[in-house]
Amino acid sequence: MAKVLVGVKRVVDYNVPIMVKSDKTGVMTDGVAHSMNPFDEIAVEEAVRMKEKKVISEILVVSCGPPRAEEEIRTALAMGADWGIHVQVPEKDYESLQPIHVSKILAKLAKENNVDMIILGKQAIDDDCNQTAQMTAGYLDWPQGTFASKVEKTDGEVTVLREIDGGLENIKLKIPAVISADLRLNEPRYCTLPKIMKAKKKLVKKVPIAELDVDLTPRMEVLRVDEPPVRQCGPILPDVDTLIARLREAKLL
Ligand code: AMP
Repeated sequence: MAKVLVGVKRVVDYNVPIMVKSDKTGVMTDGVAHSMNPFDEIAVEEAVRMKEKKVISEILVVSCGPPRAEEEIRTALAMGADWGIHVQVPEKDYESLQPIHVSKILAKLAKENNVDMIILGKQAIDDDCNQTAQMTAGYLDWPQGTFASKVEKTDGEVTVLREIDGGLENIKLKIPAVISADLRLNEPRYCTLPKIMKAKKKLVKKVPIAELDVDLTPRMEVLRVDEPPVRQCGPILPDVDTLIARLREAKLL
């Protein structure tokens, strides 16, 4: 039965208001709450549901991140994944780790561990790149089903319903394949305390990034990061007639 690799990224929690660093080199991450990228929770949930349906046999979770990324791996293990690989990235280098590097790492680990399917989030909410799944499929020369809102796995094949501009597309892929999870694929489960406790005993293999022998040369340079412009508050009008008159004045009606 198939073995699935799920990628989980440690990101600034979606509830945290993002602040740009004073030197404009990036956003503040020190002392800020982090959690698993929300689309990755959906990817883990999908893999766990497949295992519950007995269409896959094993779930390997991979996170390339700083020491505390083990927390995201443990969360995935508490949700039902079997074991994890923590690709250890020094804290100072994490911000400069780009999708092309992660793709090479995931492709390498997928081959080394005889994985049949990779499920990733459609995008990480910190960089909004939406590149890793596509590039991982490229490096492996595997078919890809991105923006999945429904996944059905049968023997040797997987059917993916994709959310695309203007509708839904149904595609069939031969496995091995790469899938990226969209928002409506499922609703991730909460982890119960017994499962969190059990997850502490599951295997998390530590692999320093330097040992993977992957080219980590940056392909992209961040020139500067700015806060979005503050939106001006609109006028409050007394009634609908005034609103219509204003819209006519502005030639919007
Ligand atoms: P991105 O292309 O950066 O928007 O990321 C898309 C997806 O790739 C994420 O939702 C994760 O599933 C996976 N991914 C990206 N970065 C990492 C990382 N550092 N470790 C593990 N998985 C990652």
